[in-house]
Amino acid sequence: KEASLQENDVSVPKMPPFDYSPPPYNGPSADEILAKRREYLSPSVFHFYKKPLNVVDGKRQYLFDEEGRRYVDAFGGIATVCCGHCHPDVVEAIVNQTKRLQHSTVLYLNSAIADFAEALASKLPGDLKVVFFTNSGTEANELAMLIARLYTGCHDIISLRNGYHGNASATMGATGQSIWKHNVVQSGVHHALNPDPYRGVFGPDGEKYAKDVQDLIDFGTSGNVAAFVSEAIQGVGGIIELAPGYLPAVYSTIKKAGGLCIADEVQAGFGRTGSHFWGFETQGVVPDIVTMAKGIGNGIPLGAVVTTPEIAEVLTRRNYFNTFGGNPVCTAAGLAVLKVIEKENLKENAHIVGSYLKDRLAALKDRYELIGDVRGRGLMLGVELVTDRQTKTPAKAETLHVMDEMKELGVLIGKGGYFGNVFRITPPLCFTKEDADYLVDSMDYVMSKM
Ligand code: PLP
Repeated sequence: KEASLQENDVSVPKMPPFDYSPPPYNGPSADEILAKRREYLSPSVFHFYKKPLNVVDGKRQYLFDEEGRRYVDAFGGIATVCCGHCHPDVVEAIVNQTKRLQHSTVLYLNSAIADFAEALASKLPGDLKVVFFTNSGTEANELAMLIARLYTGCHDIISLRNGYHGNASATMGATGQSIWKHNVVQSGVHHALNPDPYRGVFGPDGEKYAKDVQDLIDFGTSGNVAAFVSEAIQGVGGIIELAPGYLPAVYSTIKKAGGLCIADEVQAGFGRTGSHFWGFETQGVVPDIVTMAKGIGNGIPLGAVVTTPEIAEVLTRRNYFNTFGGNPVCTAAGLAVLKVIEKENLKENAHIVGSYLKDRLAALKDRYELIGDVRGRGLMLGVELVTDRQTKTPAKAETLHVMDEMKELGVLIGKGGYFGNVFRITPPLCFTKEDADYLVDSMDYVMSKM
């Protein structure tokens, strides 16, 4: 069964075929789950759709609801399911490891953990080869900032306005959007102007924004800093690719101020940009510390911090340990993910399909004034909706409406940006041109009815 808005309307696009039917679902209905969620789950967890979606099955780039309806998952579990839902190689690695040993500790040796650390190091440039495993992106960034503070003996950190790095103390501080910040102590972070080519004051001139980082150091710190942390393409912030030339200029400024450069690859890493394996490579820089999560385990809770042997030494000054970080089941999944990315050329696929999809979305922008900007790289694309292209007034209600209607057609996309008016398109990297066509045709169909 396929989701459809008006099956008799000839202009309704047709979903590409897929040879899989999920087994019948006998579990509770969406309404029953929603009632439990309201009663027993934190009210801070939210859903986007008017009619909540109960997903019961997932295969590759598709999700299925309780009635067996298929959806193109163009959000990828928030840029997380990189090889596709329930990829057989990843499932097999998890099952095999689970049967053998589910948990180990730092006190013992285990090859699942060491092999994945070695494989990760082989993907990184220079001396970036010492891995600390965590359970999430937040923990990875917390640890990276701790390491930088210990290594430099400084407390001050520079991050970007509009960036997102997590929701614990240091990471909430580094995050640059009020909607994600609570009124608790988040000391020592200075937020630099965002090098946002669409909304930023200097347009696409990366080097001009970089000057602001020097100003922050000169006027807001002792002259020395612990670190600069940023994404190369902001994800939660609305798929903003930092203006060209920004990272090389800022990295050089930070090094002069004695700080370390932290690349947050939680969303852009693992081949998602298509052109490169890591987001920072798109600007030709080499960070001192790289953090990752999401795609690294294809949805299995896993994060990592990778740095150089010299920098990693600082954690030997005191004990540092984490019960679940580097769990062998998770690292077995991680190793399988890396192998699938290579075996199925997923980075190259992200480049080919992503470029095709971006071109098609750009063509849609020529037809609808509502689309203010189309941006991003590979399979990390953003579409920003505005009610007026001159004033760039965010079209928030329209964004929600289009998302809802596209879901009724069977296409799931994400939403983000400071104003909540940017579609985030971050599907599994096995996304096809046919899926891309279906996504754009569905968006076209919905917008044509507005
Ligand atoms: N960094 C980036 C770039 C993210 O997008 C996120 C989550 O969306 C995080 C860090 C935090 O990761 P987690 O939600 O796994 O704690």
